[in-house]
Amino acid sequence: MTAADVNSSTPNWSALIFRTLSVISKPSLLEDADTAKKAEALRGLYTLWYAAGTSLGILPALPGQQKDVLPHFAIDLPLTGTAAIKDGRLGYTNKTLTWQNTEQSLLPTAPGRILAPSTVGQVVSAVKAAAASGENVRCIGHGNSWTPVFFDAGATVIFTAELLLPSGKRIELIGSDADGSPLVRIAPGVQAGELSQWTDDNAVLLNYSALPAQVATTMPRMAGAISTGSHGKGLGFGAIADFVHSIKIVNGAGEVIEYTASHPLFNEARFNFGLMGIIVEIVFAFSSRTQYPDLPFVYDNNTFPTLREVFGRPDAAAYIKAQTPHFDGSKWDPLDDKLWITAATRAAIPSDGTQPKKFNNDALSKPNLALNAATYLGWLIAEIAQQTGDLDLQVLSASVQVVLLQNVVVKSGLKTLPSQIHYQPGLQQDHIYDFELCFKVSEDFQNVVDAWNAAVSIAKDIIVQYGSNALNVAVEWRFTGGSSVTLEGNHGEPDDIYCWIDVLGNVWTPHWDEFVKRVFDAWTVISPDSPPKPHWAKWNALTEEQLLHSGQGVPQTYWETYVKKVMDPQIAAFRPAVAAADPAGVFRNEYLDNLLGIGQA
Ligand SMILES: Cc1cc2nc3c(=O)[nH]c(=O)nc-3n(C[C@H](O)[C@H](O)[C@H](O)COP(=O)(O)OP(=O)(O)OC[C@H]3O[C@@H](n4cnc5c(N)ncnc54)[C@H](O)[C@@H]3O)c2cc1C
Repeated sequence: MTAADVNSSTPNWSALIFRTLSVISKPSLLEDADTAKKAEALRGLYTLWYAAGTSLGILPALPGQQKDVLPHFAIDLPLTGTAAIKDGRLGYTNKTLTWQNTEQSLLPTAPGRILAPSTVGQVVSAVKAAAASGENVRCIGHGNSWTPVFFDAGATVIFTAELLLPSGKRIELIGSDADGSPLVRIAPGVQAGELSQWTDDNAVLLNYSALPAQVATTMPRMAGAISTGSHGKGLGFGAIADFVHSIKIVNGAGEVIEYTASHPLFNEARFNFGLMGIIVEIVFAFSSRTQYPDLPFVYDNNTFPTLREVFGRPDAAAYIKAQTPHFDGSKWDPLDDKLWITAATRAAIPSDGTQPKKFNNDALSKPNLALNAATYLGWLIAEIAQQTGDLDLQVLSASVQVVLLQNVVVKSGLKTLPSQIHYQPGLQQDHIYDFELCFKVSEDFQNVVDAWNAAVSIAKDIIVQYGSNALNVAVEWRFTGGSSVTLEGNHGEPDDIYCWIDVLGNVWTPHWDEFVKRVFDAWTVISPDSPPKPHWAKWNALTEEQLLHSGQGVPQTYWETYVKKVMDPQIAAFRPAVAAADPAGVFRNEYLDNLLGIGQA
């Protein structure tokens, strides 16, 4: 499927209007736990907004806009197992069933078959059948990645969301390792929020230990999170995959292989983009308590200084260095001059019986009616402000976001680790672009301060040039230690300091691709001796073919050339593991083949 296919099709407006109205008129819509339905309704609203706006001449026509994907509520899928496919966006493009990533940034792709197994036996059979008929097999987690790490047209697509452990459970404590860290076995489809909830619910049993590295959002499935090299925050901690104690993967021959620390391919298997097979089981070592024996909780301090008060100081780098290890910055955009800093420090169990704030997955993933409505309205207004190109409206929208954050959403105080980790509410309801690189932080912290300032100043240049703010969600950074996992962007020693810095904007943000290219160009020359490396899930291809809503993308080779260069030794070390696990190429994907040189001699 190409951009031309999508562009040339004519939307069925009456069907779209009817379906959108029928969804949004249901009183239960906003209370409904099925966020996919609400997202569909919202997308319907967006589409109607664009339709009205373009026909009235208020809005410019958007290049590559996906016009004809209708909401889907009763698709008759050739499923095995019982899972409902709620991950990503299933829909129809030119009357063909297609799937698109959750953030809707990639072009829809037509799968061959879709399977949703509930047992490992079904996974093994599916792989063997595909291998015998020469088909490709690829998995989908929650579809949260921006990078085209999914499947090529015609592949068999496997959702492992509802695969269970042999015990019939999704999560179970199975003992502890030599350091006393609890070992927690999970099914691959367990979501980040689900694991965090289980952790807090079993805090006493776990002696207040938790998974130290975890994504901020609650939605990703843990197999997807480690398969993209995703990370959390906190010095001394690597990426999420560093906490994989063992992992079971169905390889290209349909065999279930268990990789443990003694296996020669352990550091490749822990993060492999699904190229070594289908993950059916993961055991994590929850080592936060072993690393901080007396400090199981976190004190979370949120402040909202101005940009000038932090990054405008003559001693900005030294100031920020002094505040690390637990300094996270999140700035909503260059229009309001406000930073959001969440500084988390480790804390002991209070002797006066004070209870920490616990994680509440329902509150974050299925917010109450008022918060839900407010979040939707907020994103809708932000998008509309963006599309009108009215800078005043954009400033207003940015300021309201900060006021809400400051006064309603963000609360400082004593928290459990899961509660502090998932610090950004409403993340699952947005549609955003995200571009992230990982810097090895220089001794004086100057390189990451330069990177931050470059992003903000480029955003300001874009405003001056086009009158529109591309950086309309945030520039944010998080600090971690180094990782021992082969393909990670923070591959290095545990005590090294790495900074993951990203820029975020709403989808359909005008000039986003140009903004990101300029940021990329600026960031990649800041540390010539130690160039920044990719966060693979947020490595937008930014081509007209692959990035749906932007039209001015540079050729994909522009980005790939850089990644191939800076990751060359790591990619070279990774490739043999794929050859060993999948010599016939059952799990291949064209994008990854090219990027990583898979299948090349
Ligand atoms: C709002 C938002 C916030 C985010 N915050 C963070 C953050 O804080 N930190 C961070 O590092 N990243 C973050 N990300 C990126 C995100 O963590 C990754 O995109 C995500 O973890 C991938 O998980 P997923 O379940 O969505 O997997 P998908 O995106 O669906 O898939 C990712 C890869 O995993 C493979 N895969 C999935 N399941 C299996 C399986 N069973 N076996 C083999 N391969 C499999 C897929 O084939 C694919 O290659 C964020 C993304 C969003 C949308």
